[in-house]
Amino acid sequence: METKFCEFCGNKVAIDAVICPKCGKQLEELKAENHNQNPQVIINNSNVLDGNVARKKCDKWVAFLLCFFLGWLGVHKFYEGKAGLGVLYMFTFGLFGIGLLVDIITILCKPNPYYV
Ligand SMILES: [Zn+2]
Repeated sequence: METKFCEFCGNKVAIDAVICPKCGKQLEELKAENHNQNPQVIINNSNVLDGNVARKKCDKWVAFLLCFFLGWLGVHKFYEGKAGLGVLYMFTFGLFGIGLLVDIITILCKPNPYYV
């Protein structure tokens, strides 16, 4: 598996990781084409997201590794954009390990990439 180093904390992360699992800093621009878009267009895009037309693309193996090693901190939930669940996992140690176990199995059953 290819890796790179986090520019903020020096942690070794997956080559395609968007967020550093150690320090939580964003490593990659989410979408390069967003650079040239004005705020109005971005607002329109979020409306599309609300309609479930555009969904977040997740790499199965990044999610699996985050879940396996850092799942008790809810890092894989943050990766999937589910910050609320991530915080819940952080305070309950992955729903006392049960949610974590279910998530590991669920992620393994997903196609790669998968969409949330
Ligand atoms: Zn980092």
